[in-house]
Amino acid sequence: KGLQIAIDGPAAAGKSTIAKITASKLGYTYIDTGAMYRALTYKALQSHINVNDDDALLKLLNEITIELQPSEDGQIVKVDGEDVTEAIRSQEVTSQVSATAAQPRVREMMADKQRQLANAAGVVMDGRDIGTAVLPNAELKIFMTASVEERASRRYEENMKRGINRSMEELCQDISRRDKADTERAASPLKQAADAIYIDTTSMTIEEVADTIIQFAEK
Ligand code: C5P
Repeated sequence: KGLQIAIDGPAAAGKSTIAKITASKLGYTYIDTGAMYRALTYKALQSHINVNDDDALLKLLNEITIELQPSEDGQIVKVDGEDVTEAIRSQEVTSQVSATAAQPRVREMMADKQRQLANAAGVVMDGRDIGTAVLPNAELKIFMTASVEERASRRYEENMKRGINRSMEELCQDISRRDKADTERAASPLKQAADAIYIDTTSMTIEEVADTIIQFAEK
């Protein structure tokens, strides 16, 4: 039987990169819950729905189908059959997603969907509230972080590869703003679970972090 592994932490801490590698090494399913909040935000923007209007968001969430399909390099995200894997990473979605994610009823419904997805044999799920709210009984919980500067610089490198040009200053501001919104919201805020293992990845390589988690998983 596979384990449930929860990986939480602030924006751009490398959670999805690590979660993908860990899932692939263990033969588990990888689930990026941030992609679900992004997909809903994308659809809201397209439908001219205000991301602070919880009734409208909830209605929209009931109407749409969000699919996460495992792929070679992680996960393909589809909304109503449309491949939005790239589109949900846009700056517009990134700047609005914290508002969507702050709505308590939206979070409840997302958490239900996420628990259903976690019924797989073994799962690595990344997000902000997986260890605290979505999968409180997960066998392994990781809280992963890195300094704001390090996270911004990793995002900068990633952007370069994708042809996106944003200054380090802008990236630092964006990350700090999202961290603040995620930690200060009332509904399941970003918080380390009491039984989570804390990993500061600031001066660690991707391989070192993945190996650390796999060692814990195999204990
Ligand atoms: O992980 P990612 O940066 O793609 O997540 C996008 C946003 O979705 C986060 O800034 C956060 O506001 C929200 N989120 C959340 N709970 C999760 C996953 C993501 O609130 N489990």
